[in-house]
Amino acid sequence: MDAVTRLLADLVAIPSVNPMGRLLSGPEFLEGGMSDYLCDWFDRLGVRYIRRTIAPGRDNILAYYEAPNSHKTILFDAHQDTVPVEGMTIDPFRPEVREGRLYGRGACDIKGGMAAMLIAFERLVKERPAGSASVVMACTVDEEFTHIGSSDLANYEHGASLAIVAEPTRLDLVDRHKGAVRWKIRTKGVACHSSTPHLGKNAIYRMGEVLGHLSSYAQSLGKERVDPVLGPATLSVGRIEGGQSVNVVPDWCHVEIDRRVIPGEDLAECQARVYRYLNEKLGDIPDIEFLPPWVRMPALSPERGGSDTWREGVVDAIAHATGRTPSVIGVPYGTDAGPLSERGLPCFVLGPGDIAQAHTKDEWIELDQLRTAVEAYFEIAKLVG
Ligand SMILES: [Zn+2]
Repeated sequence: MDAVTRLLADLVAIPSVNPMGRLLSGPEFLEGGMSDYLCDWFDRLGVRYIRRTIAPGRDNILAYYEAPNSHKTILFDAHQDTVPVEGMTIDPFRPEVREGRLYGRGACDIKGGMAAMLIAFERLVKERPAGSASVVMACTVDEEFTHIGSSDLANYEHGASLAIVAEPTRLDLVDRHKGAVRWKIRTKGVACHSSTPHLGKNAIYRMGEVLGHLSSYAQSLGKERVDPVLGPATLSVGRIEGGQSVNVVPDWCHVEIDRRVIPGEDLAECQARVYRYLNEKLGDIPDIEFLPPWVRMPALSPERGGSDTWREGVVDAIAHATGRTPSVIGVPYGTDAGPLSERGLPCFVLGPGDIAQAHTKDEWIELDQLRTAVEAYFEIAKLVG
């Protein structure tokens, strides 16, 4: 087994499941085991690193390669967490290699990309190629839920002037993607016995009115706000909950909103616009409450960070490493590059594997891509420097 496959097998065998906001605990949850492993790994490599606590049991790890006489620093970013494992048809934490693939939770998203970045980083440290950039290797927490790791990193003095974020892109280069804002809308009513409903005020009926208007709003949004590459901004209601019991008129109901954002949209304004729309349609709405968003992930675009000035160099480096010129594309899903680019850092998303295998019940990655990714990351640090 080659070094990157061995490292990936190690990473997959360490559970780092994101509880996704649920109150779950146990050895398979959170990133602690991964962080311990990474610190040992950087210790053995003999590089400086820091372990920065973002939340209890959740630490970003940042390791430093200081290139001789370099003027530029590149940030490599890969997240430590994975999505949950319920419903998987393979053993999620026992990596298995067959037919040129490695199977296991996180193999594709994004322990594969992380393993490839780490091996490229190790080569830089050992070979110290002339003219290469310095590299900060950042392993972040909580990418799959609220991005607290990359949001912290975005405000940290990492000194980088370009970021490469690992996600499965089949080694194409992503320079734009949508962002997201997620929040709850709550309706408030007056509870009473269901045999005398006229004495109460039904919060679920009220939510029914709200939902009708949200559906119309979502349709108009799809026509008004369209990115030429990424398509329309969208709004979707994904969950609903309310009431205490069938024999009580409910005094509360809430829905969860997923608003996908296109480049150029103001995140705070997304919520405000929905509020104004409901206000206009329903009149006075003191019984309708908007809770603060638990996800606010900016969109990525070349305009925001100015990644277009780096594009040619990065494309050449990838082509040099892989023998194939990557397509420069946009994707609908969000990544750590959203928060990282918010303060103007140019970012690209690049990694081995296909998003079609991410989060699946038999997640896998092609080992050929994994090995090629090592070369691509190494070459970017070498040529872009
Ligand atoms: Zn990911």
